[in-house]
Amino acid sequence: MAAIDREKLHEIYLGRQDALVAKIAQIVAPEIPAMVNVFYSELLGHPEADAFLNSELVATRLTHSMVVWVESLFKPKTAADIDALIARQREVGQAHARINIPLYLVVEGVRILRRELSACIMASDMGRGDLVRSLVLVNELLDHVISLMNESYMSGMIANDRNVSSLRMQIPPYVLALDCERLRSYLFDWMRENVLALYQNRTRSAVQCRSLGRSEFGLWVEHRAPFMFADGFGGDDLLNQVRKIDVLCDVASKNRREGNDEIFKRALLELNDAVDHAAWTMSELIKQTLELESGRDSLTRVFNRRYLSTIMQHETGISMKHGHPYAVLLLDIDHFKKVNDSYGHDFGDRILHQFAEILSLNVRINDYVFRYGGEEFLILLGDMDEERAMQLAEKIREAVAQASFTAPDQKPIRVTTSIGVALHDGHPDFEQIISRADTALYTAKKDGRNRCVYIHGDACKTE
Ligand code: GH3
Ligand code: MG
Ligand code: MG
Repeated sequence: MAAIDREKLHEIYLGRQDALVAKIAQIVAPEIPAMVNVFYSELLGHPEADAFLNSELVATRLTHSMVVWVESLFKPKTAADIDALIARQREVGQAHARINIPLYLVVEGVRILRRELSACIMASDMGRGDLVRSLVLVNELLDHVISLMNESYMSGMIANDRNVSSLRMQIPPYVLALDCERLRSYLFDWMRENVLALYQNRTRSAVQCRSLGRSEFGLWVEHRAPFMFADGFGGDDLLNQVRKIDVLCDVASKNRREGNDEIFKRALLELNDAVDHAAWTMSELIKQTLELESGRDSLTRVFNRRYLSTIMQHETGISMKHGHPYAVLLLDIDHFKKVNDSYGHDFGDRILHQFAEILSLNVRINDYVFRYGGEEFLILLGDMDEERAMQLAEKIREAVAQASFTAPDQKPIRVTTSIGVALHDGHPDFEQIISRADTALYTAKKDGRNRCVYIHGDACKTE
């Protein structure tokens, strides 16, 4: 718990301001129910709040608790009362985390309350000096209780996130791969069954599709998938696809019933595409999740970005603590689009694989090679200086330029790379060094490609 909040609350309630707190309590007490009404009616007007609030819940449960909560802010008289107030804020923060309420809604609520309390105090007959002091005090009080609430909210959220990640780790890769196969065949069986039902049913009035959303596949997408896929990996997209499939199915069966053969056939084609797409999305999600969990990129076998920030933070810590800076090389293959266009995507993939191999062979065992994006790689060199970093970058550039890549027509082709180099300059945010390396890379491209550029501050140096 932040000691600073406890200390400040002691000052407010038990220090020289206790008389002012009592005075504020007297002024606001009769107005609190009206303030809480404004609070909920404004929040209920926000569409984002729909998932957490409805008017019945507000009327029957929340209004009363909120009135009690606002009153409690002006009541503490002893250290034990303050402890109880602190404990209560922690409970509220944990409850917010459990229901997953977004922080911006909490902040919006505080804003409304701050405004209402301030207006109430300003409407009182207090003298100017007391009025100003009361406004400052109420704002400070709100800041401290919200800080306590949010602190436990954050730790609740982090614990929840950790649990989701560890649950994901509990699922062995082969189980995920097997589930994927089972789900694919389930999906295609579902499709076959429904198409047969739609075609074969002679009594057209009975034509009805079985919902995919309520089938084993749909239930898996809704109930299990959120714990399988890494965040931001589009599990929601799959759920939307399942819903779309059900809509298409309804369209098909309705038009079959009504004898609109053209529309029926079109809906069936669309349905078929949608099912193929859902199967592809699911396989992709599982493939990406397996890859992400392993921390390796499946095509090149070097690290993917999963642990990049963790490793960069670690290296930044070492550099700042011991004064041994690390270097970042950002590499981008030159004119790679042309290679793909001329020889095909598969050959492009082979080049990426071989390119990554060259990088791995030319760095030391303590260095890291990441696939940073499509044909971009990031190399992190620990304990470096400008000269050695540039020598290594040059060695890599040379090795790539000398390597022979064999095109599908057996002709050897040459590939070159541009490299941006930057050295850690003591800044605690590692994004800064990546951004400098990126600027250097941009300069290398602009200056003609197949070259290394070092950047320190705003100055670029080409080698
Ligand atoms: P520049 O020298 O300016 O970097 O030109 P470029 O053509 O390399 O750059 P651009 O960004 O225009 O094109 C990058 C290409 O890399 C386009 C994209 O298709 C290809 N690419 C990205 N990821 C992969 C991949 O995984 N496999 C293959 N084969 N190609 C990829
Ligand atoms: Mg690029
Ligand atoms: Mg490129």
